[in-house]
Amino acid sequence: MDKQLLYRCIEEKAPLLTQLSDAIWEYAELSMQEHRSAQAYLDILRAEGFTVEAELCGMPTAFLGKYGSGKPVIGILGEFDALSGLSQVAGKTQREWKIPGGSGHGCGHNLLGAASLGAAIAIKEQIAAGNLQGTVVFYGCPGEEGCAGKTFMARDGMFRDLDAALCWHPGDVNEVTTGSNAASVQVQYTFTGVSAHAAGDPEHGRSALDAAELMNIGVQFLREHMPKSCGLHYSFLDAGGISPNVVQPTATVLYMVRGNDVRIAKALLKRVDNIAQGAAMMTETSVSSRQIDGSSNTVSNSVLEKLLQENLEQAPLPEYTQEELSFAAKLKETCGEPVLPGQWVNENTQLQSFSKEASQNGTLPLNNFVMPYTPSKQVSPGSTDVGDVSWLAPTAQFSAVTWVSGSPGHSWQNVSIGTHSIAHKGLLLAAKVLAGATMDLMENPETLRLCREEFEIATQSGYDCPIGKEVTF
Ligand SMILES: [Zn+2]
Repeated sequence: MDKQLLYRCIEEKAPLLTQLSDAIWEYAELSMQEHRSAQAYLDILRAEGFTVEAELCGMPTAFLGKYGSGKPVIGILGEFDALSGLSQVAGKTQREWKIPGGSGHGCGHNLLGAASLGAAIAIKEQIAAGNLQGTVVFYGCPGEEGCAGKTFMARDGMFRDLDAALCWHPGDVNEVTTGSNAASVQVQYTFTGVSAHAAGDPEHGRSALDAAELMNIGVQFLREHMPKSCGLHYSFLDAGGISPNVVQPTATVLYMVRGNDVRIAKALLKRVDNIAQGAAMMTETSVSSRQIDGSSNTVSNSVLEKLLQENLEQAPLPEYTQEELSFAAKLKETCGEPVLPGQWVNENTQLQSFSKEASQNGTLPLNNFVMPYTPSKQVSPGSTDVGDVSWLAPTAQFSAVTWVSGSPGHSWQNVSIGTHSIAHKGLLLAAKVLAGATMDLMENPETLRLCREEFEIATQSGYDCPIGKEVTF
């Protein structure tokens, strides 16, 4: 089949996809609260003739749309949640709150889901026309930014039937993602003490806030004695109240523990648990803990990655107008200096100065080129619940340019550009790459066989889900 048919379909659907993306940007709903966003997707999936399953695994905003029949079954992953504190007026080159304290799409998930849907629709049209055989499944995955919706879906048996899963992420470079991501677990610790007048009756008080502070101090000492690749982050969810003259009877801290794989993260978590117990003992308070979520390290698949690279090189790159370039240049000025001008530090912090493309990165307002494929075994310090999908089916991802070069992740700059024609062009490019790769997989059983073979070897140890049955979202 000619890939141009897919590209044309995506161009025809451009108004639908960009309107969807802009609407999701406007809703800016946080993890697991994406009700209007999910509804917008469900409406389109139904109108486009997909068989829809809503409220997957008991999550009100998780869903899928399926089209076609038989093998192969290719999954395309979509996300749509926003981030708190990142509300921003669109199209500005300076920080300007849209809603003070509101949320915004600083990670571009408005674009992410819409492009994935666009690819699924283009494949559906070709299955309907009899040009392709197989099944395409669009997954509406909630709560990537907090709660790890895909991990709950993976725990409850989804993704296992897929022959391959594809996804992408908005970014400042057109590049196939290689290497792995850290695994993570999030646990909430709640200390309970006894309130009392802080000055008049302090001997009767048992401070939960003291316990939480001592726990954090204990964890600071732990940092020296854990593998260098691990990470520990925390935030206060409850500091026990606002009155300094009261001994705080409650305090809650949320911990995120990262390691190169789930086993390492869980082992470190046990040591954090011990510190919490120690802090409770020191302060004569009690502590309880509750796991919030978790995500696995990603298993890379070079067969699928090379296929994405081919498709990234085949799809026509966007052409930018003078207006777009000057907007991008102004926005880039607000992003600070690149780490090393003329050199590209990729997600795996490997310096890549050997290619012409790499040396241009950080010097142009928009990186309008495709980075060479540089397979790596490095583990990126961040985590994603795409990792859990990658343990259950061969999975690969890439990034496409929707942001200005050097733009920080989770930033107001990314919110500002999120409805701009530059971002829309990146959305359409991503949809074409995903659709092209899905077409290749449906037409080439040998590619699927090879990616399955690599997957089976890489996942021999089996999927160790980072969340147990007792964890609820
Ligand atoms: Zn993201």
